[in-house]
Amino acid sequence: MDTQKIYHELGISSAVLGFCRSAEEELKPRFAAIDAIAEYNQAKVVAAMQKNRVSAECFAASTGYGYNDLGRETLEKVYADAFHTEAALVRPQITCGTHALALALAANLRPGDELYSPVGRPYDTLEEVIGIRPCKGSLAEYGITYRETDLLPDGTFDYENIRRSINEKTKLVTIQRSKGYATRPTFSIQQIGELIRFVKELKPGVICMVDNCYGEFTEIIEPSDVGADMIVGSLIKNPGGGLAPTGGYICGTQECVDQCAYRLTAPGLGAELGATLGLMQSFFQGFFLAPTVTASAVKGAIFAASVYEKLGYRCVPSSAETRHDIIQAIELRSKEAMVAFCKGVQSAAPVDSYVTPEPYPMPGYDSEVIMAAGAFVQGSSIELSADGPIREPYAIYYQGGLTWAHAKLGILMSLQKMCDAGLITLPEA
Ligand SMILES: *Cc1c(COP(=O)(O)O)cnc(C)c1O
Repeated sequence: MDTQKIYHELGISSAVLGFCRSAEEELKPRFAAIDAIAEYNQAKVVAAMQKNRVSAECFAASTGYGYNDLGRETLEKVYADAFHTEAALVRPQITCGTHALALALAANLRPGDELYSPVGRPYDTLEEVIGIRPCKGSLAEYGITYRETDLLPDGTFDYENIRRSINEKTKLVTIQRSKGYATRPTFSIQQIGELIRFVKELKPGVICMVDNCYGEFTEIIEPSDVGADMIVGSLIKNPGGGLAPTGGYICGTQECVDQCAYRLTAPGLGAELGATLGLMQSFFQGFFLAPTVTASAVKGAIFAASVYEKLGYRCVPSSAETRHDIIQAIELRSKEAMVAFCKGVQSAAPVDSYVTPEPYPMPGYDSEVIMAAGAFVQGSSIELSADGPIREPYAIYYQGGLTWAHAKLGILMSLQKMCDAGLITLPEA
């Protein structure tokens, strides 16, 4: 086949291709295991769709109040069945992951309650939601207090201090599955299950919520299979399969999801209304594709780690570690390397490939940020993207790829741009 030829036409040298080929060869057994997870999850999603009799009528658009929307109601049953929960709220009106999390928290907490994170500081955007950084409308303004316990230095749970922190006010425990853009490890479902069991033994009635962003379909079970009362995420990450143009989900107990529905619309109205505006086909089809899309992104992450480790860069997680989310951090050790890497990812994109990413100051950051993304859905991080703050250790966060072949192209191009900039010298092929 002329794969080599078309890669050359895209500007990738024989040296880059040769170097990456050996990395890919070594990953074959890992990739087979990822395919097996995708196969299981594909069957799980299809079974949920069949059980709920998904039909063409489900894709019809609704406007106005959106009462009796067959598509919306069926989609929520499909999510609930696939994630083994009593109920689900899956809506285009949920703007993003942060909104879904804020909704789940505000809906299930009342003044005087305490929110508790046993896994350290949550995702950046939640600091304002909680009121760790003061903000209008934060939980703190409503008299909801917050407490957290850091992880131990090795990234495991500090059970001793968790025991001491849970008190009579603790109402909701929030557990972030993915490391997000922090350096701690991402938790496996097994670890999350152990933590939930520990917390519930101390306080049986407490609500356990898991921020499931970036984690969906990386394993064959979800946190809801190990005791989480709510799992929460964004549809422009894994479960939207690259097709959902917006939206978020909350799956969990009927009680928790009802609270969320009353908060999203209005008390007394709840989940009964909400127009779907023609988005249902993309939500259903995206969920159908999500298991294989997630697998492609995980393969891309492992491939990136494998290639860059061989070149002497520290990768978190390492190429050998099991994966529980789709994010790959690579410590590139210089601004120039971050810029070159991002230029490569950008030039591999199907959209905006002609754009040159540049570092720029971003509100809320104390350093410049660089970002490469050429996505069909703006801001989508299940599509191939790379970003990072320009500061020590000059780590680039690489994620996504709707297909494995495209994730691979992104890595090939990143390496090519690093070579072109004289930052890496490969042996001649
Ligand atoms: C992306 C992400 C969020 C926030 O989602 P947005 O859609 O960007 O608002 C929250 N938590 C984690 C772990 C995430 O990865």
